[in-house]
Amino acid sequence: MGFQVSVEPGRHSFQAESDETILEAALRQGLSLPYGCRNGFCGSCRGKVLTGGVEHGAAPVEVLSNADRAAGFALFCCAMARSDLRIESREVRSFEDIPIRTLPARVQRLTRAAPDVMIVELKLAANERLQFLAGQYVDILLKDGRRRAFSLANAPHADTCLQLHIRHAPGGQFTTQVFETMKERDILRLRGPLGTFILREESPKPMLLIAGGTGFAPIKAIVEHAVAETNARPMHIYWGGRQRADLYLLQLAEQWPVEHAHIRFTPVLSDATTADRWNGRRGLVHEVAMADHPDLSEHQAYVCGSPAMVAAARQDFVARCRLPAEEFFADSFEFAADTLNAMVTSPHPASRADALSLPSGS
Ligand SMILES: Cc1cc2nc3c(=O)[nH]c(=O)nc-3n(C[C@H](O)[C@H](O)[C@H](O)COP(=O)(O)OP(=O)(O)OC[C@H]3O[C@@H](n4cnc5c(N)ncnc54)[C@H](O)[C@@H]3O)c2cc1C
Repeated sequence: MGFQVSVEPGRHSFQAESDETILEAALRQGLSLPYGCRNGFCGSCRGKVLTGGVEHGAAPVEVLSNADRAAGFALFCCAMARSDLRIESREVRSFEDIPIRTLPARVQRLTRAAPDVMIVELKLAANERLQFLAGQYVDILLKDGRRRAFSLANAPHADTCLQLHIRHAPGGQFTTQVFETMKERDILRLRGPLGTFILREESPKPMLLIAGGTGFAPIKAIVEHAVAETNARPMHIYWGGRQRADLYLLQLAEQWPVEHAHIRFTPVLSDATTADRWNGRRGLVHEVAMADHPDLSEHQAYVCGSPAMVAAARQDFVARCRLPAEEFFADSFEFAADTLNAMVTSPHPASRADALSLPSGS
């Protein structure tokens, strides 16, 4: 049986089933309420029930006392609706609302999605969840203090595991470890959530989403989040790679327009081989998008991938397709700062231009 829950002061509302927690219901429908552990221990999801009745479920009495309950407080990660509700809770609308944390995570599963792409699923400790917004990334903290950035590929409502799509950077310190020695149950340390590459939910404009190679990871998170919150803004997603194998989750992306009339998807290859038997679009992914959308003056663009691709898209969308500069959002897969420093101080540094040509995308 479903109940209507309206949230003050944001005035958003959602449906909650009687066998799910209020937080689960909110996240399932794309509404981000604050949370930490999702087990009743951290108290981050505490809020007030203004009208209506709840069952407090597994809320520990040490965290939510009987006096708290009598005063109308609840832990929304434990409480379940027993009638229509009006609740008081802050809504997490911006990355600034979310604390950045350092947490251990266990490697739950390693899936080789392409010869040089590993999908790594990470599980936090039993009483931990990481709150984040779709499109953000985490830093993996290496033992020597260096850090490596990877986008979260899952949407916040599907956070049982954190999913990373990791491309092997030849000679790279961390990504070589992922491909050669990492095993399931290994422990990593991560810090996050980080970054501002998130869906601007207040805008009604149609969206162009451009991914190069593993730049697909945050685009996937954003699309899955938008679908969950039934955001029906038109989305045209372009995913570019060199060869067919670079589009390592092609079937998943092809399914989006089948299930959602407001989504279009166009895969693009820049160097298809005969073995690819490619009948689709060819060229640089952002140029194919411009050919389809010569006028971007009423759009927003979300672009993620190699620094070269992001820079070209920024330049061309604004200069040639009249995209307002403030409607361009991007995450550029730069190397970590320590790598750049090493390259600059090396006696034979690779040129920056060489270094920026990713082995995928455009
Ligand atoms: C915000 C952000 C999000 C990111 N998200 C992702 C993601 O979701 N998936 C993903 O695969 N990558 C992502 N990256 C890029 C990723 O962080 C780097 O590829 C990674 O740091 C490489 O670490 P490493 O220790 O293996 O290489 P390093 O030891 O840092 O580098 C060693 C050598 O590897 C090469 N190299 C390093 N990085 C790259 C690169 N990106 N492309 C080509 N050659 C490289 C260079 O030759 C370098 O000299 C992201 C980067 C940023 C800034």
